Amino acid sequence: MSKRPTLTTTAGNPVGDNQNSITAGPRGPLLLQDYQLIEKLAHQNRERIPERVVHAKGSAAFGTLKITGDISNYTKAKALQPGAETECLLRFSTVAGERGAADAERDVRGFAIKFYTDEGNWDLVGNNTPVFFVRDPYKFPDFIRTQKRMAKTNMRSNTAMWDFWSLSPESLHQVTILFSDRGLPKGFRNVNGYGSHTYSFINSEGGRVWCKFHFKTQQGHEFWTNAEAAEIVGNDRESSQRDLFEAIESGDNPRWTVQVQIMTEEQAKNCPFNPFDLTKVWPHGDYPVIEIGVLELNRNPNNYFAEVEQASFSPSNVVPGISWSPDKMLQARIFSYGDAHRYRVGTNYEALPVNKPRCPVNNYIRDGQMRFDDNGGDAVIYEPNSFDGPLEDAQYKEPPLEFDAGTADRHNHRDGNDDYGQPRALFELFDDAQKSRLYQNLAAAKDGVPENIVQRQLGHFYKVHPDYGQGVAKALGVELQREAAE
Ligand code: NDP
Repeated sequence: MSKRPTLTTTAGNPVGDNQNSITAGPRGPLLLQDYQLIEKLAHQNRERIPERVVHAKGSAAFGTLKITGDISNYTKAKALQPGAETECLLRFSTVAGERGAADAERDVRGFAIKFYTDEGNWDLVGNNTPVFFVRDPYKFPDFIRTQKRMAKTNMRSNTAMWDFWSLSPESLHQVTILFSDRGLPKGFRNVNGYGSHTYSFINSEGGRVWCKFHFKTQQGHEFWTNAEAAEIVGNDRESSQRDLFEAIESGDNPRWTVQVQIMTEEQAKNCPFNPFDLTKVWPHGDYPVIEIGVLELNRNPNNYFAEVEQASFSPSNVVPGISWSPDKMLQARIFSYGDAHRYRVGTNYEALPVNKPRCPVNNYIRDGQMRFDDNGGDAVIYEPNSFDGPLEDAQYKEPPLEFDAGTADRHNHRDGNDDYGQPRALFELFDDAQKSRLYQNLAAAKDGVPENIVQRQLGHFYKVHPDYGQGVAKALGVELQREAAE
């Protein structure tokens, strides 16, 4: 057996006794000079970083994106060229629960990927659903409060959820997905991932098209019923973490088929709905999916805190050839994700090993808490300069974005929006058994909700499809009131 290393303090000083603290006599009291005792207690008090306000409970694994298709006419991104292979980290999560929440909960699943490309990190921070509950980030903090604990009871509230949703019909599409089978997947391996937002591709000629990203599970969609999930949670709060970890540990690597949808700028101008609205999908019939490759997860993290809890994803991280769109939700996230990480992990979060780009990083950002690398050494710290500091390169400038001349205002995001058509298209995809489970799941989540709120929401379901409204009303054992449906 090789000799075990000598225990040291964090300063590297050898420790002679790690069993007994220093006391004035056998019965105490303790002496303040026992630095090792104080270090252990003080460090423990600082071991947790704030959990994420949303997506707190998560699991992640490393893997590889392999590109087999050819979309070089749309994007110059090196990671998306035929034959490219890029290391990535994919973190799955539930959204509403705290870090100790059970995995088998009905909730949206986060699907956040960091691609460590040769041109810097590209983060695609999506979900297992192609749409979201709100389309204006102004409403995001309000929405999240409806999913969290109430001020007085410290409990979650069905009333808050349905009050908000019934007053926000743009949520109908996502609500229908959440209460369908895909709202309670068996494990993270059984979910699709969607970039959700509209992004843009830029090619080597400077041409721009709009795009959406899809990751289709090759493990198949599997789900729990509410009753099955209750039993799972009673026995195992980490069912999805366990499933993912054990599959990868045994070499059964999960895979997702990677697809994109493309919309030209001209098509976007003539699109009958706002293609930058996060509550809408692009119908496949009009914007067919193009298969571009496979994402495989093949390595479990070695240390959860270092590689998962500290992993910091942000849609602000894009590479040449991939960029943003006018989607208001995306634009707000470009600000708010980096801001969350600076608060939660620290000013220099991008320099931590799990977040650090695998390519050189050259900039004039310096100092700040926990600057644990050489802080740029003695290199010049401002720009412009005459001392060979890094320079911008015009080849990476993006083509200009054209907008119709408009008026700056708080434009009503509900004006002219059809919130019912796409949920209807989804509802019509469900077979009778899926519809029946949808009604039951929705009814079960309305426990304790005041009648007027229930009726308001039933009216929305009715407008999606009369069978939908009537089906939920029947599952609830109530009459759908005529005026709610008008
Ligand atoms: P399509 O029939 O061409 O596309 C159907 C899509 O819906 C497929 O991607 C499929 O995912 C997904 N789907 C199938 N069954 C379910 C289900 N039970 N729950 C959730 N998703 C399901 O139709 P459209 O593109 O015209 O879209 C119709 C509706 O399908 C939309 O309103 C939207 O709600 C939903 N949808 C559309 C997507 C899109 O990007 N167009 C993406 C996901 C959902 P899979 O291939 O994994 O089976």
